[in-house]
Amino acid sequence: MEEQEYKLEDSIKCPICKADYNRSQAVVLKEDNSQTILHITCGKCGTAVLSFISNGAQGVVSMNLATDLNKQESRVLFNGNSIQFDNVLEVYEKLKQI
Ligand SMILES: [Zn+2]
Repeated sequence: MEEQEYKLEDSIKCPICKADYNRSQAVVLKEDNSQTILHITCGKCGTAVLSFISNGAQGVVSMNLATDLNKQESRVLFNGNSIQFDNVLEVYEKLKQI
């Protein structure tokens, strides 16, 4: 267990145009000891992405999903729900249907 801390700038790039994100473009939707969920809007191509960063036994795992949801809609999606990493795939399935 080392290098537990992630740097947003190092770990997340736009999946569409590969531009580096910076913190000013990211909104934290959910954050706890083991997981951070961010909504990020790419400053270059404008693509919105949900980023799931899980800090678990396997180390830091991040998954980025392009989304049509804006920041407000994303907040509603996650508000009040306790998101486990297992639920991420469920969310992914939902997003695919949108
Ligand atoms: Zn981009």
